[in-house]
Parts: sequence; C-alpha cells; structure tokens
Amino acid sequence: MKKVAIIGAGFVGLALAYQLLKTGQFDVTLFDKKGVGGGASGIAIGLMHPYPGEQSRKSKMAEEGMQATLRLLKVAEERLGAPTFNADGLIRVAFDEEAAQNLSSYSDVELLGAGRFFIKSGVSVFSKRYLEGLYLACQDLGVKLLIEDIQELPQGFDLVLIAAGAGSLALSKELPLKKVKGQALVCKGKLPGKNIVGKGYVAKGEKEGEFFLGATYERGPLLDETPDVEAALKDLKGKFAQLLPGEAFPEVLECTAAFRVTHPKDYFPLMEKMDDKTWAITAFGSRGLLYHALFAELFISNALK
Ligand SMILES: Cc1cc2nc3c(=O)[nH]c(=O)nc-3n(C[C@H](O)[C@H](O)[C@H](O)COP(=O)(O)OP(=O)(O)OC[C@H]3O[C@@H](n4cnc5c(N)ncnc54)[C@H](O)[C@@H]3O)c2cc1C
Repeated sequence: MKKVAIIGAGFVGLALAYQLLKTGQFDVTLFDKKGVGGGASGIAIGLMHPYPGEQSRKSKMAEEGMQATLRLLKVAEERLGAPTFNADGLIRVAFDEEAAQNLSSYSDVELLGAGRFFIKSGVSVFSKRYLEGLYLACQDLGVKLLIEDIQELPQGFDLVLIAAGAGSLALSKELPLKKVKGQALVCKGKLPGKNIVGKGYVAKGEKEGEFFLGATYERGPLLDETPDVEAALKDLKGKFAQLLPGEAFPEVLECTAAFRVTHPKDYFPLMEKMDDKTWAITAFGSRGLLYHALFAELFISNALK
C-alpha cells in the first residue's frame, strides 16, 4: 500500500481521501490543525449551481462538477442516515442586463420577473452534516486523522497532497494564490421562500428558526480570520436589502469568518505537481462545492497515471 498524507480536512481533503481509499491501494493520513471542517468548508453556506459570478456565465465543467458533488453528497447521506442536501432549486437575482440575458438562455432557468430567476438545478448543501458524513465514510475505509499544524511537509509518505485552503499559501509558496476573507451571519428567523443568491445570499440554516446571510469579500494584508461583526454588518445590510426588499433586518445570532483562497486570474481551481511526490489541489475560491468532488475524481483518473 502506498502511504498518502493529505494536509487539510475540508471539502477538498476529504473528497481526495475518500476517492484514494476507495481504490484500496492507499493508506491515507489526514492532517488538519483544527479538525474536520476547520477552515472555510465548515462555515460554507452550501449553495451550488452552475452560474456563479457576476455575469452568471455557466462555469467550466459545471455539470460534471455538480454530478460529482451529488455522488459524494449521497455517500455522506447514506453513511449519516440523515439528509446532506436538498435539490429543490435556488433563486438567482441578476446583477445587470448581461447577467439577465445569460440566465434567460439556460434550459434549467425560469424567469420569475423583476430580475429574478429560478435555477431548477440549484442545490443547497448542509455543509456541516456533509463533512461529518463524508468523514465517517472515510473512517469506514480506514482513514487516520492527526490534529497537527503542519509547518514542513510530512516525511515518510509516498505522496503528499496539499489541500489546505488558505493554509496552502504557506505550504506551496510558488503558487499564485490570494486570500479573500469571507464572513457570514447566522440570523434569527425563517426565510419566506427559497434560498436566494445575488451579490450576497440568504439561505436556510441547518437548525430550525435560523438562516444565513452572507458573504463578504474582504481583501487586504491586515485581515485575519477573526469574525468582525461591524465589518460584516456594514457590507451585508445592503446585500440583505437587495435580496429581500422590504423585509426588516434580522437579529444576528453569530458571525462566522474564514479565508477563501483563489487564483488571481482564474476561477478554476489548481491541481499542480510541485515535485515527484507532492501535489497542491487548491484555489477553490467560492466554488468549493461545485469543484471539490470533481477535482478528487480527476486527481485519481489523470494525475495518478
Ligand atoms: C462565509 C463563506 C461562505 C461560503 N459559502 C459557499 C457556498 O455557499 N458554496 C460554495 O461552493 N462555497 C462557499 N464558500 C467557499 C468554500 O467554503 C470553499 O471553496 C471551500 O471550503 C474550500 O475547501 P478547501 O478544502 O480547499 O479549504 P478549507 O475548507 O479551508 O480546508 C482547508 C483545511 O486545511 C487546514 N489547514 C490549513 N493549513 C494547515 C496547516 N498548515 N496544517 C494543518 N492543517 C491546515 C484548515 O484547518 C482547514 O480545515 C464559502 C466560503 C466562506 C468563507
């Protein structure tokens, strides 16, 4: 058996672990400084559809990405014995005329009126439950998890995979990566209808009587991952008014924050061979749910050849 170290137990690290373990050829150790879902994945609101981005253009390999994610969601759901997602569609608010025209051209999108569209293929993921179920499925296949803050790549492994989200910057310095802080608010109340995506989003929470309002896109060298409720409110009040016009701003129960990591010029994630045995699979930006499962499948079918 080949020994594999995966740094990061978020969506990407767990998907890689599961696919490697399933081949029966790898002994997999996950390293995470905080545990499963300790980074952006643990606070991801859970919205997935093929048309993210300001112009609502269909993302590259969007259908393949959604299908791959749905396969893993079902693995997690079966293992957990509880739902990890619902596939009852999302409402998309078009930012401008170009986005509205793009949305009008897709066969799975219906115009609702007033710049609002219904994306029938939209999926809402219960991120925490999904991570829990996927980790249990990995445990069944023999994964080991070590809670360690990795400063130097671990020795004694045949393969080392850097899937450390924002932590990938320090571990693979030559990659062109940027950090963007994202904050979301857990709010008290019930959403009147479906989950909505516009410049921000509102989505039902995993608990009754709560919903999420997100997210900020904060850039700058002085930012850290500590929640900053003032900064979050400054940005998210306007987004809430655009998503749910006329609704009173809700009571805030909690503010969550994490870094996303992106490629500065491309939204498509990176799968880079760093040396003979080290790969970095990172830069998922705001499309972690769309691409993490697909990249794990691509890693097995292409990179390992
Ligand atoms: C507020 C917010 C809302 C979001 N909502 C959505 C959404 O609705 N839909 C969507 O698709 N995406 C969403 N995203 C983006 C999504 O969360 C990311 O694309 C995704 O989580 C990236 O997964 P990852 O596994 O690469 O990184 P992460 O989830 O960040 O995982 C990396 C892991 O590596 C660990 N780590 C880092 N450095 C080290 C180290 N040196 N040693 C050991 N461990 C280390 C961390 O603890 C972490 O657990 C959101 C992001 C934010 C911040």
